Amino acid sequence: MNENIKILTEIAYMISAATFIFGLKMMSKPTTAIKGNIISACGMALAIGVTLLNPIVKTYEWIIIGGLIGTIAGSIAALKVPMTSMPGFVAFFNGTGGLASMLVGWSDFHVNYTRSGYGGYNLENIVLILATYLAMLIGGVTFSGSMIAYAKLEEKMTGKPILFKGQQVVNAIVLGLGILIGIIFFANPNGSIVYPAIILLMILANILGILVTIPIGGADMPVVICLLNSYSGMAACASGFVLNNTVLIVAGALVGASGIILTAIMCKAMNRSLANVLFSGFGSAEGKISTSAHGEVRALTPEDAYYVLEAARSVVFVPGYGMAVAQAQHVVKELADILEKNGADVKFAIHPVAGRMPGHMNVLLAEANVPYDKLLEMDDVNPIIDTVDVCIVVGANDVVNPAAREDPNSSIYGMPIINVDYAKTCLVLKRSLASGFSGVDNPLFFKENTRMIFGDAKQTLTGIINQFKDAME
Ligand code: NDP
Repeated sequence: MNENIKILTEIAYMISAATFIFGLKMMSKPTTAIKGNIISACGMALAIGVTLLNPIVKTYEWIIIGGLIGTIAGSIAALKVPMTSMPGFVAFFNGTGGLASMLVGWSDFHVNYTRSGYGGYNLENIVLILATYLAMLIGGVTFSGSMIAYAKLEEKMTGKPILFKGQQVVNAIVLGLGILIGIIFFANPNGSIVYPAIILLMILANILGILVTIPIGGADMPVVICLLNSYSGMAACASGFVLNNTVLIVAGALVGASGIILTAIMCKAMNRSLANVLFSGFGSAEGKISTSAHGEVRALTPEDAYYVLEAARSVVFVPGYGMAVAQAQHVVKELADILEKNGADVKFAIHPVAGRMPGHMNVLLAEANVPYDKLLEMDDVNPIIDTVDVCIVVGANDVVNPAAREDPNSSIYGMPIINVDYAKTCLVLKRSLASGFSGVDNPLFFKENTRMIFGDAKQTLTGIINQFKDAME
């Protein structure tokens, strides 16, 4: 490549890498997230454009066809896929990233093995062999693991943990064989058995991806998806080394690091270790009706709730997974507007793991045009929650369960929660006394200041809104 073009390409790659870093930083705040996304997308467009100008690209037909298919598929998915299906689609896209890295590794191996052969053990070759191996191994695990995660989340297969006797031993044998192939490849990269061994490596990597994902309960999949997201970044980073492409190395490293950080944040917010998420089959008891938490349940109708809310001067909505199921975000916003008009100060408190994916509630409330400055994080709302007149819990359960604070025997003990039971009155909107994701009973339902309003959250909120409308006429 002409030396000047090479320098310009590297400069363009550096600019792209900088836009990814700034974009990621901006995505950490709702107010700047959209701009951050656009900046990063521009950086990606620059990186793709510069790569296409590279003289090693000889023909453009296949690239254009591939680009068009990708653009159309991505646009349709972004427009059509409902918010409740986002975790599944993120898994699917992660998987395609893993597959791409695996294929890059294979194609580079094929070229080197069949044409020139790998040279001696200088630093460049050692890095190339290692990166090729890792791209195929991690890429394969990411691909099949993500497809299982997708199938579980989209209910195309059972969401229950699939366990069998000696599972860990089988996993260890498959991983061991994968490592053995790595040693064979490294010891003699041009050896006659290396090509079939590499094919076997890709098959084993895909089997391993399936084996490590099936024992995880469907409800724990969002954490696993973050982890697989991290793997897809590492695989992309490895393929960056294979192709000697700076921007792919940087982008892959960013995805790998941010995925693992997000995984850690989610585990911390649930007060669980990653090992517990990966191996415990947690979450299979979701929907169990309370047996250990007892007391008197005080139920209200939407008509009664109107009188409570009409008098309230400060109201905090606490949404959870049930709001997503009921698709109640628009009526939540409508009621919030009515309450504000009625003179109440209205806020929304978001728990970091409310719903089924990070940022689930933020996205739904943004869709309903709830202003960002009305969203409070758990750590900001808890210190002032005892001054709040009414907390309206919309389909949240685990994230407001006082057992996490009060009951050392509870399996969610220690998980940080939003202390809605400290508010003067707490209205809980859900269909029954059933447990949430963790399968743990919730003593909140029996607290003296709690009023249960049973039914679908959207219908309940619509009922309350109608009472306000009737009163205004
Ligand atoms: P939960 O799963 O604890 O509870 C949701 C509640 O919504 C259920 O108890 C259900 O009760 C109610 N519900 C369902 N449908 C409706 C409806 N149509 N109308 C009204 N209510 C409804 O949700 P939370 O958001 O409180 O907690 C999230 C849980 O998911 C946590 O345990 C968290 O650790 C876990 N998790 C979260 C992840 C994330 O990234 N956000 C990732 C992995 C796990 P009922 O059936 O009685 O209506």
